[in-house]
Amino acid sequence: MQGDPGRGESQVRGPSEERLALRWAALLCGQESIAGLSLHAAKNQILAWAATNLDIQPSVLAAMRQPLPEHLVTTRFLHAARSLEVGLEHIKQIMLDLNRPEADCIGAMTRLARHFQSDESRLLEWKERARDAPQFQGWLPAFRHAAAYLENSLPTPFERLEEIRSELGKMCAEPHRFLEARERERFNHSFDDFKKGYIDYYFAAHEDTVHIVGNQERMESKVDAVALRNLELLSDINHADRSYLNRVRAIGRWVQAHQCNLPVREILAFHPRCYCDFNPMGSRHLAESVNQMNDAIRQGIDHFRSILRRSKMIIIQELRDMRIDDHHAKQIAALLSRGPMIPLKQQSIDILNAVIRRHTGSFLTADHRLAAVAPDVPADW
Ligand SMILES: [Zn+2]
Repeated sequence: MQGDPGRGESQVRGPSEERLALRWAALLCGQESIAGLSLHAAKNQILAWAATNLDIQPSVLAAMRQPLPEHLVTTRFLHAARSLEVGLEHIKQIMLDLNRPEADCIGAMTRLARHFQSDESRLLEWKERARDAPQFQGWLPAFRHAAAYLENSLPTPFERLEEIRSELGKMCAEPHRFLEARERERFNHSFDDFKKGYIDYYFAAHEDTVHIVGNQERMESKVDAVALRNLELLSDINHADRSYLNRVRAIGRWVQAHQCNLPVREILAFHPRCYCDFNPMGSRHLAESVNQMNDAIRQGIDHFRSILRRSKMIIIQELRDMRIDDHHAKQIAALLSRGPMIPLKQQSIDILNAVIRRHTGSFLTADHRLAAVAPDVPADW
């Protein structure tokens, strides 16, 4: 492929060789006007072009040799990257030879055409790759981030996100395509789309599951705080079964132990998982824990109401005798009804305790049911 730069001069040259040489010179330099020049003028133009257009940095070429995470490097990519380097070496050599006073344009351009198998489109493709090489190198850090992010990200239940993930995987399996700016843009765009959707999903699941405690608004939207307070007060009734409240507190402690206050959105910008290693799909038990708390609260309250309703007549008669004010009478009436409760106050519990003290016998009978063992907190809590 190297050829002899001087050999061309001894060959018989016709107008067609000259036209062809000028044509390749014009393509190489990207200057159509060269096609209308004399061979001597064209030679000067080619050398002037070469002086400023063949200076691809060695570091760019080195990056093209090992540019991608190892598992993404394919023979096809390496071949494409290598052809850029080989083409550059070859053209540089042709230019060096052409720089000799005796060298002529036809010989040099014949060698150039031969290198690209007389296929103009190959030369144009090489030129485009060479022009784009620094952009490709500049894109590599973003690609490395994207590849690592995809590899470490967790599955999501969203079909659209999983489709994008699979599309990105297909693109990564053909890395030679990334030598084209258009393909890199397509990848970047899809990855941005994936990352945004993934962060929204992960962040919401994280907030919903492991960032409840300490987030007052979220806590209130999750745990029925009024019902919890009612259960706490009812558990203060004499002889009350406290196992419901204990169960609620045990779940609460367990939820608290799994809470995470890290700035998860900031973390997700760089890494697809919070440092607490929260896995949205693997934390269903934790996600359900607040529901279980609310269930235990409701069961506890139902239990106390059912016990107290059995002594309803005694309580109502006592409230009349004690001339209880409307405010507290309403709380106790709602408690004894089957309708919705209203928030209890400590004084209402004090009143109920006073009634129970006066009718210990009746309430002790009821207390056997009241003290029945509530479901235990599971061992893993
Ligand atoms: Zn976290």
